[in-house]
Amino acid sequence: MKLSERVEALAESATLAVTAKAAQLKAEGVDVVSYGAGEPDFDTPDNIKQAAIRAINEGQTKYSKPATGIAPVKAAVCEKLARENDLSYEPSQVIVTSGGKMACYLAIQALVNPGDEVIIPVPYWVSYPEMVKLAGGVPVFLNGDENDSFKFSPAMLESAITPRTRMLIFNSPSNPGGFTYHPHEVDAIADVVTKHDIVTLSDEIYDRLRYEGQGFKSFAATNAKAYEQTLTLIGASKTYSMTGWRAGYVAGPQSIVKAMAKLQSQSTSGACTFVQHGLIEALTGDQSAVEQMRSEFEKRALHIHHRLTSISGISCNRPTGAFYVFPNVSRTYDKIGVTNSVDFSKAVLEKAHVAVVPGAAFGMDACVRFSFACSMEQIDKGLDRLADFLA
Ligand code: PLP
Repeated sequence: MKLSERVEALAESATLAVTAKAAQLKAEGVDVVSYGAGEPDFDTPDNIKQAAIRAINEGQTKYSKPATGIAPVKAAVCEKLARENDLSYEPSQVIVTSGGKMACYLAIQALVNPGDEVIIPVPYWVSYPEMVKLAGGVPVFLNGDENDSFKFSPAMLESAITPRTRMLIFNSPSNPGGFTYHPHEVDAIADVVTKHDIVTLSDEIYDRLRYEGQGFKSFAATNAKAYEQTLTLIGASKTYSMTGWRAGYVAGPQSIVKAMAKLQSQSTSGACTFVQHGLIEALTGDQSAVEQMRSEFEKRALHIHHRLTSISGISCNRPTGAFYVFPNVSRTYDKIGVTNSVDFSKAVLEKAHVAVVPGAAFGMDACVRFSFACSMEQIDKGLDRLADFLA
């Protein structure tokens, strides 16, 4: 069967591929420790579940009206952005989507023309380059500085901007890097962006998962011009452990949001209606579960960093946000007879029964990604195995 060139050119998500291989081994009875998942290992808080169940029982089971999100959910998003992100948006500047991923897709489709350059800092979330290519755009990779937690500097950004640059994708806290830009760093990057006619897609989906008092600033909150040039993307998946619900949202300039709304009305017809009721409860209800999950992630972040850096040949930055750690493992390649992160990941999966995601999927072949969305016991069990394997 002949498939479209667009789809033929798409790479399969490497994160899903590793999770699938680990699941296959598990199904064969192998006891695999998986650090592959990009989703919290906690249950969705009960108040959120009950709100969605109530909505179903009350008949909130029809199309979302409007397709951009029901009025109370947009109000809840505006309230959250004002309360937690120092951002003032009108409901007409908000669109609720089937997950943050769809929001990202709509934003890129709405803004990128064939040949347009989109600056993507490395390491990046796997889907950004593929989504840019789907729109006919050209990903321009900006390598972060390993000595500075893989962050890029304003000067590095300036030198990557050309007359063809249409967009910067900024993700902090970072998947897969686990780093977070300090407010003064965000200010300095925004100062570069606002000298140019480019849009920043600021992916702040991990905005509340930060550790050890790490500071944070929303990109659009840096200055008035940046506000006009930024799409702020968040969602419920990570903060509220709602990955399967598919609840994301974006706020930004009305003209862009309107274009995204047009696309949404011709594709998904909007986020699931009763999920939107769950999202309202998530954003406006009791927030204590968020702190419980965040503090558990914080303990794991410190522990996994400590354990990884005790293994000879592995170096890594301490995660300040999200739930990933992204060690450089390339100094072990010779020892175990591999030359890249994909073969490293295959070897540790097959020989030590530990699943990690190759850094190549995120544009950095010296590294692998560990998600610490698993229990302390699992973290220790997997790292015992890895340490033995690499000894
Ligand atoms: N952005 C980043 C950086 C992510 O890590 C993810 C999920 O892994 C998403 C966006 C999309 O999440 P969702 O579609 O579940 O809201």
